[in-house]
Amino acid sequence: MIDAQHIRKSFGALEVLKDVSLQVRPSEVVAIIGSSGSGKSTLLRCLNHLETVNGGSITIEGQTLVSSDDAGHAHYPSDKEVKAICSKMGMVFQQFNLFPHMTVIQNIIEAPMTVKKMRKEQILPLAHELLAKVGLAEKHDFYPSQLSGGQKQRVAIARALAMQPDIMLFDEPTSALDPELTGEVLKTMQKLAEDNMTMVVVTHEMGFAREVADKVYFMDGGVMVEGGEAKAFFDNPQHPRTKAFLSNML
Ligand code: ATP
Ligand code: MG
Repeated sequence: MIDAQHIRKSFGALEVLKDVSLQVRPSEVVAIIGSSGSGKSTLLRCLNHLETVNGGSITIEGQTLVSSDDAGHAHYPSDKEVKAICSKMGMVFQQFNLFPHMTVIQNIIEAPMTVKKMRKEQILPLAHELLAKVGLAEKHDFYPSQLSGGQKQRVAIARALAMQPDIMLFDEPTSALDPELTGEVLKTMQKLAEDNMTMVVVTHEMGFAREVADKVYFMDGGVMVEGGEAKAFFDNPQHPRTKAFLSNML
């Protein structure tokens, strides 16, 4: 469903992704771990076109987001096609980025109304259903400033789901939260996984990676060092750099 091959990405002279490949199958939960600056966010951002790649190919549900010619130059289709492909993916960030002047329910219905041109009556039932799903049914008329960090992040998840994506990308969704609030967000993500959502999750939560993810990948210095089935990955890491990282984390 996601097939990224030989991705290269530089910021000026700094090569941040060096021939990175990643495959995600339907309904799979893939965790990406690695130290700060290893390129995890950049990889996620390349998958949904918040960044352009310098080389390599990405297909999303069989549709080509970017391909590269023999000389290694990347080619993207038209803006319209890129938009259509990326609309299959929702993303949740470390900072929740809710609209502060809108209530919870307004935050959730905004993109379906403006991007998908849905009418308010069309999207409201789903919006309330999603809010209930993230455990916040009664907060629909609250403003973001009236919510805890964990509640804000659950609204951000509901907001992304309101666009009815096939794939959800999470970039350290609990890193900005107080420890006592991370559990409720991780539980929400676990429920989503149990509903068979395809998920790519950049995380420092090793418990989540081990218990919820099907596959775990370790990045270091812009390279995908190793990855595989979650249990095997944690029980039997192969590469010295993975072992060193895990022994620091656990
Ligand atoms: P963290 O765990 O701290 O979030 P990360 O693995 O997500 O780290 P990235 O954010 O992908 O790392 O950054 C990888 C490298 O790319 C870093 O050296 C970073 O400084 C650099 N970088 C990221 N975005 C940009 C940008 N827009 N312009 C220049 N350099 C960037
Ligand atoms: Mg990051």
